[in-house]
Amino acid sequence: MLDLSRERRRMVDVHLGRRGIRDREILAAMREVPREAFVDPGYEEFAYEDGPLPIAEGQTISQPYIVAFMLEMAQIRPGDQVLEVGTGSGYAAAVMSRVVDHVYTIERHAALAEVARRRFQNLGYGNIEVRTGDGTRGWPEAAPFDAIVVAASGPGAPLALQQQLDVGGRLVIPVGDDPDEQRLLKVTRTGASTYSEEDFGGVRFVPLIGEQGWREESRPRIARTIPLARPHSLPEMIAAAAEPLLDFDDPGFAEAFDRFADRRVVLLGEASHGTSEFYRARAAITRRLIERHGFTIVAVEADWPDAAAIDRYVRGRGASPGAARPFQRFPTWMWRNTDAAAFVEWLREHNDRVKAFQPQAGFYGLDIYNMRGSIAAVLDYLDRVDPEAARVARERYGCLTPWQTEPSTYARAALTKGYRECEEAVLEQCRDMLARQLDHAGQDGEDLFDAAQNARLIASAERYYRTMYYGGSQSWNLRDTHMFETLEHILDARGPNAKAAVWAHNSHIGDARYTEMGISREEVNIGQLCRQRFGDAAALIGFGTHAGTVAAATDWDGEMEIKSVRPSREDSYERLCHDAGIDRFLLDLGRDPKLRDRLTERRLERFIGVIYRPETELHSHYADASLARQFDAFVWFDETSAVTPLGPGHAAEGVPETYPFGV
Ligand code: SAM
Repeated sequence: MLDLSRERRRMVDVHLGRRGIRDREILAAMREVPREAFVDPGYEEFAYEDGPLPIAEGQTISQPYIVAFMLEMAQIRPGDQVLEVGTGSGYAAAVMSRVVDHVYTIERHAALAEVARRRFQNLGYGNIEVRTGDGTRGWPEAAPFDAIVVAASGPGAPLALQQQLDVGGRLVIPVGDDPDEQRLLKVTRTGASTYSEEDFGGVRFVPLIGEQGWREESRPRIARTIPLARPHSLPEMIAAAAEPLLDFDDPGFAEAFDRFADRRVVLLGEASHGTSEFYRARAAITRRLIERHGFTIVAVEADWPDAAAIDRYVRGRGASPGAARPFQRFPTWMWRNTDAAAFVEWLREHNDRVKAFQPQAGFYGLDIYNMRGSIAAVLDYLDRVDPEAARVARERYGCLTPWQTEPSTYARAALTKGYRECEEAVLEQCRDMLARQLDHAGQDGEDLFDAAQNARLIASAERYYRTMYYGGSQSWNLRDTHMFETLEHILDARGPNAKAAVWAHNSHIGDARYTEMGISREEVNIGQLCRQRFGDAAALIGFGTHAGTVAAATDWDGEMEIKSVRPSREDSYERLCHDAGIDRFLLDLGRDPKLRDRLTERRLERFIGVIYRPETELHSHYADASLARQFDAFVWFDETSAVTPLGPGHAAEGVPETYPFGV
């Protein structure tokens, strides 16, 4: 027999515990009863997924969460006498038998009743009695009951069952004539002839067939005979669709993302540039994509030359002689933080382990801000391989020299001076480098690719800074188009089957056509361009949070501060996720069409960058978006914390000295 005890524990902790089942006795019972013994042969490995499974007679074994939820509603206690209507596989009865004194269970299909009886015997569960018959009439000889649980939905609560409750006894039953949706009802007997009723929301069950249920021929047509929770409010719908996530270090955390592993590009967002959970989640997912699914590219929202230094480190290529220390420019904490450092360290170890038998994974920057670093890198490369070409390049880049340290002032100057010359010079240099790449195909591989990419970057950056002067969408579009094209170049360079994990802010990776950016400002972004280029081979995964702390500055170039993130606004997507009541989850937006429809309606979404201004949060950080169109999936961490920066005064414990960020 398979040993599934670990999976069982995980099911209880994640699917039940984190979704709000609190009753210790029920949780302990579900930790004890082997659900795999109640599924049909061949289904054992699925026994601990939180879903219903088919059994004989066209029936189902209920979803574990629903079983736990109903038993919690029924408030079963040690010492109780309990009746169940709808034995099915026998699983729910077995769970109850671990809590209460005695369980009576009735099943209308003799074959199911018989199999269940044998299961109880094999497991040595001696306090369960099974009967074949119509459960809507109850089990009068054994009444009164402390609790009655009905696992099929009827037109109402059968009178016979209500009368067989002890005073104080609880009857839990799904009722309603809509085959798609019924209400979960709890009837409590408050006196000899008095009852109170509570409604616990929408559910979907197979029909209760019997004298006080549906008649066989008049039973409502069931679209799907699956007892599935079908809640009403949007947060409830989110909670039902949410897949709770484990801790980052548990392999099960990243396993949840395996569904995206066949994509060419998996884009992983973040709702701020200074939140630890977003880094750790992306690191865990990316580790799995690399180790298990053949991804060899990690492309991040960082400057190319800086990431190139990390790439050399993780691939054991030694530092480039003239290169400056990476990530010295504002905002340093975006990459000089302990979470990024830990991931880089893992990447190095992984590459070292696999280098003899499989391609190493590379670390690449998509962004354009470090023009100075790129110029230095091009010159450094040419100095080594072709001093004459280096001399020409130096001359061409000379026109940018005055602006290298403060390129944002270039725009104003470019208006008055003959900037066209400069533009022409950097383009010419770029063309030269690309021609060199063609001529030297196969030689000098990584170094030449790096230098050519730097030349491309300089050309993009020159235009970027020039257009910045005019404001508007042009410079944003230039930057994101450059980032997207860089991704394409990296994919090309790594071969036809290369697959990439991209880490960038939600504003870059959520499809811009479905946010204010695209709708009102005509801005494009990497996510949109990836969808247009790769179609379904791109997965766009957004991240979000309700509250906590974040590392951010108040102004551009300002000091990093640890700021409190205000609880999300009531009219935001974030608040819907918060109200779903699950700490951390994955919401696959492609799974439930009704939920997808609801999450397509436009709402506010929060965007925190390197700057956070809580005082003007609405205007500074919220924008209109259509979540379900913007992303393929959304990852939620209800409370998050700021990253821990590396650097003077920020000793990073456990970070090796060899690490290129080391200070
Ligand atoms: N509790 C079960 C488990 O854990 O596997 C799942 C039960 S399944 C969702 C519902 C069961 O109710 C079916 O096996 C169906 O045959 C049975 N059922 C429907 N009407 C019934 C009735 N009037 N009396 C007894 N069983 C009935």
